[in-house]
Amino acid sequence: MPTFVCIYCGYEYRGDKPPEKCPECGEEESFEEEIEAVEEEMQEEFEDEEPPQKEEEY
Ligand SMILES: [Zn+2]
Repeated sequence: MPTFVCIYCGYEYRGDKPPEKCPECGEEESFEEEIEAVEEEMQEEFEDEEPPQKEEEY
């Protein structure tokens, strides 16, 4: 669910659509969608794949 933040007073509203008026400061269409930082499981995958080196003996 997106979060909308009033650009004037910082009021946070959670929902699909922000209210027409900010209930906090009364400004109209003052909400901006806030992009939440999605907590993802950071799995660091380090694959040390060295190319196989074939030592050729002559
Ligand atoms: Zn506001």
